[in-house]
Amino acid sequence: MDNTPPSTGERPATIGQPAAGPVQTASRWAIARRTAGAWFRDRYQFSGGKLPRTCPICDHTGVMIGVGHPPRWDARCTNCGSRERHRLLWLWATEGGGNRLTGKHILHFAPEKALRQVLGRDPLYETADLRQKGVTHLVDITHLPMADATYDFVIANHVLEHIDDDRQAMRELFRVLRAGGIALLTVPLNPTRAESYESPGITDPVARNAHFNAPDHRRYYGLDFADRLREAGFAVEIFRVTQAQEVRFSLLPMEWLYVATRPAG
Ligand SMILES: [Zn+2]
Repeated sequence: MDNTPPSTGERPATIGQPAAGPVQTASRWAIARRTAGAWFRDRYQFSGGKLPRTCPICDHTGVMIGVGHPPRWDARCTNCGSRERHRLLWLWATEGGGNRLTGKHILHFAPEKALRQVLGRDPLYETADLRQKGVTHLVDITHLPMADATYDFVIANHVLEHIDDDRQAMRELFRVLRAGGIALLTVPLNPTRAESYESPGITDPVARNAHFNAPDHRRYYGLDFADRLREAGFAVEIFRVTQAQEVRFSLLPMEWLYVATRPAG
C-alpha cells in the first residue's frame, strides 16, 4: 500500500476559518509576558528575527514561541496556546468553510487545552484519559467501556506512541466509532522509514529516549503507521497543506494528520 503523503496542492481559500466567537482572548499584557518568558527560557529563538504567524484556531497573528524539550521554535500560539498539531487538525476541520466537528459526538483522548476550549463548547464533546483530572472518562484506550458505534469523531494527538499494544487501541477506536465515523490522529513519525521502529525489550526511560525520542515512547513510527490503521479496519487518508500554508500557520512539514475513517456498511 502506498503510504506516501499527498502532494500539497492548493487548498481552498477558506482554509483556516477561526472558531466562531472568541477563543481565548489573552490580553496584550499576557501575550507580551508569554513572549518575554520564552525569551528568558531560550533567547536564541529570537536572535535572527521572527516572522509573525497566524493561528487558525483563535485568529491571532503574531510571533509564536518555543515549546518542548528541546524546544521547537515558533510552535506555540501566544494567545490560545495551540501547537502545530492542533492547528493542522483545525485546518482539516474547517477546510472548505464551516466546521466538520460542530455538533458532532466527539471523544478526545489526552485533551489539550487549545482544542478543548473550542471543542468543549459542544454538549456532545467528551474527553478521555488514563490519568488526567477533569476528563469525562478515566479509561484505558485499549479497553474502552463505551458501546460500539458511539462516536462521530475520535481525536488522539500523540497518544498511540505511548501505548504498548497500539494495535489493540486502534481496534478499540474503530469499535467505538459509528460507520462513517473518523479518527483524527497524529503521532511522531519518521517519514524516511517505511517501517516503525520498536522493541519490547527497550523499557528503560533513558534507552527509550535514545531509541524512540522520548522516555515514555514505545516506538518511533514509520510510514507503515497507515498500514496498522488499515489492519484495524480503517480507510486512511493523510492530510497536509501547502508549504506556504505551513509557513503561514507555523506547522511542521513532517507532521501530517491521519484521517482514519470507519467505512460505512
Ligand atoms: Zn491561537
